[in-house]
Amino acid sequence: MTRLSERISSVRPSATIAVTSRAKQMQAEGIDVVSFGAGEPDFDTPEFIKAAAVAALDAGDTKYTPKQGNALKQAIADKLASENNLPYAPDQIAVTFGGKHALYDAFQVLLDPGQKVLIPSPYWVSYPEMVKLAGGEPVFLPAGPEDGFKIKPQQILDAAGEAKILVVNSPANPTGVSYTPEELQAIAEAVLQTDLMVFSDEIYEKLIYGQTRFVSFASLDKRLMERTVTFNGLAKTFAMTGWRIGWAAGPKKVIKGIGSLMSHETTNPVSFVQAAALAAYTCPQAAKAVETMREEFEKRGLHMAKRLNAIDGVSCVQPTGAFYCFPDISTHYGRTLGNVKVSDSLTFAQAALETANVALVPGVAFGEDRCVRLSFATSMEQIDKGLDRLEQLLAR
Ligand code: PMP
Repeated sequence: MTRLSERISSVRPSATIAVTSRAKQMQAEGIDVVSFGAGEPDFDTPEFIKAAAVAALDAGDTKYTPKQGNALKQAIADKLASENNLPYAPDQIAVTFGGKHALYDAFQVLLDPGQKVLIPSPYWVSYPEMVKLAGGEPVFLPAGPEDGFKIKPQQILDAAGEAKILVVNSPANPTGVSYTPEELQAIAEAVLQTDLMVFSDEIYEKLIYGQTRFVSFASLDKRLMERTVTFNGLAKTFAMTGWRIGWAAGPKKVIKGIGSLMSHETTNPVSFVQAAALAAYTCPQAAKAVETMREEFEKRGLHMAKRLNAIDGVSCVQPTGAFYCFPDISTHYGRTLGNVKVSDSLTFAQAALETANVALVPGVAFGEDRCVRLSFATSMEQIDKGLDRLEQLLAR
């Protein structure tokens, strides 16, 4: 029998994708499933972005490009300078196949076997697996519902000793929580007392709600530019998940390392997708398209959290970013819902899917077994339909 490498055997396949696949399978069988599983906008990519890709194809833009991207890098540098107060040169930017690819490569470039990475928990599913695949060791900094899902600077100081990198993700997946500029500043001050590098995952930059303002981590102090790698992409901002395009910006040495890796791995990001991304970052229509989606997500987030909090035994931190609610539903553990004896987030999600035909993601996948994740990247109508079902399922 074929024996797989130890490296791949230690990886857990993405639980978020597993739930969406099961929900899709049930839908294909004709079952009316309400899916709160998706981690992607339900809007289509704006027309002007699609048109730029088509124009690039028609113009024969179908060949290899420079390995870390073409003119798009200058457009990203301009965006970082004007929107994020970050003066990166184009050779400090690597364009990749999605934010995921940028993060994966950066861990590969920076970690030696056994080096530790501090990851606030709950966390996005892929961080620990990426760290392990690079030979590193994830160390979790707990920040549960009682902490509003936010770590305290002291936790960084306590754990910094042997660690090399701290991951910061604001707005966050799976919690929907954003740090305020003041909270981020306090984290930055703690980081500056250590030798840590920071991976700032800013993929949900534009999806921020309420009074909270977005700031880029590296912009908080001049000394942070040299030790921060900033990650972003077009998937969430411009509803371009399927296009697979993202980027990393950081110290030249790190970006050069990513370039060496990419030269053997993917060569270059897709030529005509780069043209589409260039349009997204430079066309004047972009801001309005993004704001229209942001406003709609904000309305849905408010509504979903309000309805969740009205359900007996459910407690949800108000989302201030991304498109997720991450309610604590653990008071229902010990009950039998439908035919399922619920004892943890996995059996809760099973009961919701099999009994109420509602797909959500068990929090255990993100390191928090008291919670489940519901995406509000779906219509208001679906949100109400799904929450009616959950309410009914959980009625005592
Ligand atoms: N970071 C976070 C926190 C995410 O939620 C995601 C997408 N689920 C990504 C990065 C990667 O996004 P993509 O590869 O689609 O650009």
